[in-house]
Amino acid sequence: MSSPWSKVSNEPVQTINLADIMSEQYAHRLHDKELEQQQKKQQKQTLPTVTPTPSSINAKSYLNIASTSAKASEEATTSSDTGDWEDYSMLLNNEGKGEAEALPASMLTMLEDEAESDAVIAQMLQSQFDHEYNEELRRIERQQNKQSKVTVTLNKFLRSGDAEFLHDTEADEDFEEDELACLKQDWDCFETNEKMLDAIPKCGFKLDKEGEMITKHDPQLCGVRNAQRVMSFPPEFPTGDGACFDMKLSNKVFNQLKAYSRRGRADRKEKVATAEMGVDAATRLLLYKLINNQILEQINGIISTGKEAVILHANSDASYTGTNEHGHGNGVLMPAELLPKECAIKVFKTTLNEFKQRDRYIKDDYRFKDRFSKQNHRVIINMWAEKEMHNLMRMQSIGLNVPDVVVLKKHVLVMRFIGDNHNAAPKLKDAHLSAAELSCAYEEIVAAMHKLYNEAKLVHADLSEYNILWYEGKCWFIDVAQSVEPEHPSGLEFLMRDCGNIVNFFERRGLPNIYTKEQLFEFITSLNAETHNAAMLERIHTRGASINQATVPNQTECPDELKPLEYPFELAWEKSQLERQVRSEEAEQQEEEVEEQADQSETKLNNDTKNTAKCA
Ligand code: ADP
Ligand code: MG
Repeated sequence: MSSPWSKVSNEPVQTINLADIMSEQYAHRLHDKELEQQQKKQQKQTLPTVTPTPSSINAKSYLNIASTSAKASEEATTSSDTGDWEDYSMLLNNEGKGEAEALPASMLTMLEDEAESDAVIAQMLQSQFDHEYNEELRRIERQQNKQSKVTVTLNKFLRSGDAEFLHDTEADEDFEEDELACLKQDWDCFETNEKMLDAIPKCGFKLDKEGEMITKHDPQLCGVRNAQRVMSFPPEFPTGDGACFDMKLSNKVFNQLKAYSRRGRADRKEKVATAEMGVDAATRLLLYKLINNQILEQINGIISTGKEAVILHANSDASYTGTNEHGHGNGVLMPAELLPKECAIKVFKTTLNEFKQRDRYIKDDYRFKDRFSKQNHRVIINMWAEKEMHNLMRMQSIGLNVPDVVVLKKHVLVMRFIGDNHNAAPKLKDAHLSAAELSCAYEEIVAAMHKLYNEAKLVHADLSEYNILWYEGKCWFIDVAQSVEPEHPSGLEFLMRDCGNIVNFFERRGLPNIYTKEQLFEFITSLNAETHNAAMLERIHTRGASINQATVPNQTECPDELKPLEYPFELAWEKSQLERQVRSEEAEQQEEEVEEQADQSETKLNNDTKNTAKCA
């Protein structure tokens, strides 16, 4: 690709159709404006140079990016503002005239010598342009919405390249914050809509501020409801996560989507096993970066699709030396020689439904309290992954068997794979244990729970035979994102539930002489059951619910957050999966029946027509 910044040739420069390139139009407009101002000023004979106005700053910043990215010589980058701008003006002046000879020689040599990649510069320029364009749109949006009761959003006109390129490397995190600040408004919107839906009483209508009746058939509400239903489509159906925009879907669109989501169900069953599932474009990019940074060599496929994460198997890169080719460590948390050959990648799902349950574990955890924000679901999901990382490291520091953390990138956590040759270790519930092994496992788990509580000051909070792997004759603890400190308002309640899960499992397996749930709780905490009850009361107190509501939780009026936690989560998940499967099979059967009937009536109709024709 030839560079517009590079060598001066005698051939006329090809003119580009300006109508095709927005950014050029914009640049010319700026330029014309600038020239006009310059001429006016020269006429007045005041300042001899152009004072940087917002538009000249824009133009200059383009130049700065170009020169920085091209690692321009010191001479060039330290040239005076006026000099830069004049060079730029001249450049623009000549552009389109096809007279490249007139370009200033100093600038040409600077860019010719130093420009590494035209594409990089172009992308950066485009990116900055997009950013400024979006800023302008937002300003217009704010201005319009200020006066009016009806708000407009120009989101669909936003340019997507905004800052993506500029910030995707070192300043990734900063950008994330900015990006999330922009999204905040829209998340708010989704939540407001949800609340609006909830606010319709059972009678089916309510009155708005103006006294207008809103029914549950209101098109606005239906749109929101449909959007929410789409969120609960099977995970393999790519719905996105509803972030960034105020999603509303008409009944017609929703019905079409539903029909589409049902189509090719047989295919989908296969697709469930493919690596695409649950791994959206942003995640794929993160995974790609892990490979590009020589941490991983290849990603092999799905180990498990759980209620809140997809677990992938990967091989680490044997050539990893601790830094990548640019000399960066890439956040790897262990020396290169300890990098496990096989890794498990936990990709936390970002769909709305799942992480709603997570709020409870994060928002009261003082380690994350300040950073918790209800609106920013993306931040929460990243925090959730971060929480798993911290908890794993804390558990490892007291000598518990947990997978080593390799690296964390946003909602993607890479850790040691527990198993051999692509075969994951079985969950405790699936492991075939002899009586002696069963007893060992019990002792080990009880000791681990004690240690976890007393030394690591943690409660697993989702401990069960589903989250313990049996490998090399030992128990390995996983899935610790929800683990909390005992001081967490629900800490003791979670612990009591963990005790219940463990005791139930070993009881079912017929292991004799084991603690009861209360005894195990007392052994771990040295607190008696009364204290636990006090903790329960405290929970009720902190949530401001009446004892009646909280202790008789099966009442239909009992709010969801006060209902007892399901025991254990995985069991509930599996059950719901089974139910879903049964439902979908039933629906499939019904569809087949309908199709069969339609076929039959069609054949009958054909026969009748033939007979009639014969008779005729
Ligand atoms: P979820 O929160 O979705 O339940 P988990 O962390 O429990 O996710 O992982 C789901 C399943 O993936 C586990 O039951 C286990 O079979 C497998 N798994 C998770 N981490 C590892 C690992 N490090 N090594 C091997 N298998 C793993
Ligand atoms: Mg799990």
